[in-house]
Amino acid sequence: MTKPSIYGLTFEQLTDWLVDKGHKKFRAQQVWDWLYKKRVKSFSEMVNVNKECRSLLDEHFAIQTLEIHSKQESRDGTMKFLFKLQDGNLIETVLMKFSYGLSVCVTTQVGCNIGCSFCASGLLSKSRDLTSGEIVEQIMNVQHALDDRANEERVSHIVVMGIGEPFDNFDNLMDFLHVVNDDKGLAIGARHITVSTSGIIKKIYEFADQKLQVNLALSLHAPNDELRTKIMKINKGQPIKPLMEAVDYYLEKTNRRITFEYILLKGINDTPEIAQQLADLIRDKKRLSYVNLIPYNPVDEHIQYEQSEKNAILRFYDTLKKNGVQCGIRHEQGSDIDAACGQLRSKQIKKDKEKAKTKA
Ligand code: SAH
Ligand code: SF4
Repeated sequence: MTKPSIYGLTFEQLTDWLVDKGHKKFRAQQVWDWLYKKRVKSFSEMVNVNKECRSLLDEHFAIQTLEIHSKQESRDGTMKFLFKLQDGNLIETVLMKFSYGLSVCVTTQVGCNIGCSFCASGLLSKSRDLTSGEIVEQIMNVQHALDDRANEERVSHIVVMGIGEPFDNFDNLMDFLHVVNDDKGLAIGARHITVSTSGIIKKIYEFADQKLQVNLALSLHAPNDELRTKIMKINKGQPIKPLMEAVDYYLEKTNRRITFEYILLKGINDTPEIAQQLADLIRDKKRLSYVNLIPYNPVDEHIQYEQSEKNAILRFYDTLKKNGVQCGIRHEQGSDIDAACGQLRSKQIKKDKEKAKTKA
């Protein structure tokens, strides 16, 4: 049987576990320090923790469950990791370099069941949720790679925008957020973390009720139901009106700004009329919202979509601006290596399948 990752435990869970096994409370702080401050890669290196406690931890937990399958580095500082999980599944994680810091994009599920029509991750349905430990370990692996460069670089930001729908793995997501945010450990500020959802309405309410300062992004991509359902089938059961009511609840409860993500697809959702519709839809939320316009990253399997023309993108942006909407155009990162999240994994799976075919 495989052991769960030690990184899956929040500080409180680790403390309770150790106390339950008859160890002193302060051991949790020591272990936590070794994991997140000194960042060792084995229990045996935790030299101020007594041997009995170390063996017990080793018996019950793994400290490395992710294996680096491949790593690509781009000229702009972007790093893409393809990890192999203990069960052989592949997931990907991206490190991006910005003027404000180093941001990691994490994966929350193996595949995704939401099945948006433009997305590489949704091509393969979900085979399972990631554990909280597997999500934290993505950050730790990236941090270890940075530690190896000895430039004192720290992961300062996290976006939960990799493969999967984070709100479909809510409890593990919450544990992950508590671990990385813990000020005794990595201490990545909640305001530096963004969770992106395709719009699972019930969970937006639940997220609003958590006392977290974590940012929320909503993948909107269209301002009316007909178009949104065409692009994202989740909109059929969870349409825009109740979705916007959930957004209102979130804004009222948290007083935090929400980001609306909007992929621009040529000739589909990128006209000035649609931009106007979008501005009208979020008119009453202008103070507490930001629209992130994302140039579509072409996916081989989705030939029906193309990236919008530069002019169309600028016109869309102008229409929003004229309406007083806060917005920006996302700059593409790592374009000289594999593009959008999910593509590295799907390419590798395709390669493996082809290999298997030629062998047969
Ligand atoms: N499942 C969540 C988070 C992961 S997707 C969600 O959908 O929000 C993160 C973001 O990447 C989403 O806004 C998604 O719409 C966007 N995305 C997916 N495929 C893309 C592509 N081919 N080009 C550009 N953005 C894409
Ligand atoms: Fe899943 Fe998000 Fe991709 Fe939609 S865009 S299929 S929700 S990962």
